[in-house]
Amino acid sequence: MAIERTLSIIKPDATRRNLTGKINAKFEDAGLRIVAQKRIQLTIDQAGMFYDVHRARPFFGELTEFMASGPVVVQVLEGEGAVLKNREVMGATNPADAAPGTIRAEFAESVGENSVHGSDAPETAAQEIAYFFSGLELVG
Ligand code: GDP
Repeated sequence: MAIERTLSIIKPDATRRNLTGKINAKFEDAGLRIVAQKRIQLTIDQAGMFYDVHRARPFFGELTEFMASGPVVVQVLEGEGAVLKNREVMGATNPADAAPGTIRAEFAESVGENSVHGSDAPETAAQEIAYFFSGLELVG
């Protein structure tokens, strides 16, 4: 499998509970390398642009307000099949459905406040990485 990069976000529910290190350990234990990382505070508009694909969904307002409610840690994870591997480490969107040992099973509070975001395909990963990072900030 090819070496890929994927975008990860540690969401406000997790930064609020001081879980950044525990979540990063899950990535590293799975063989994913954190090749870029920064803690930022999104505006509702910036969260809306990031989640533009969900604009028509009934939960869009709740999602963007939540994502702007506190600091997030945006990161680029690198490794073999990183996009899929990260989705496995994250677990299902709804923590009630997430497999034991996954980040969402262990840490997520609800389907909305579910601790992490991860790109769903290599193409979206490239777009999402470019949304938050310049090429100069990526040193694999
Ligand atoms: P993901 O790729 O597993 O993050 O899931 P989706 O792309 O389907 O949804 C994006 C994000 O929207 C999720 O991670 C949740 O934070 C949020 N979300 C999804 N479904 C719901 C919902 O029914 N209610 C609320 N409040 N948020 C939701």
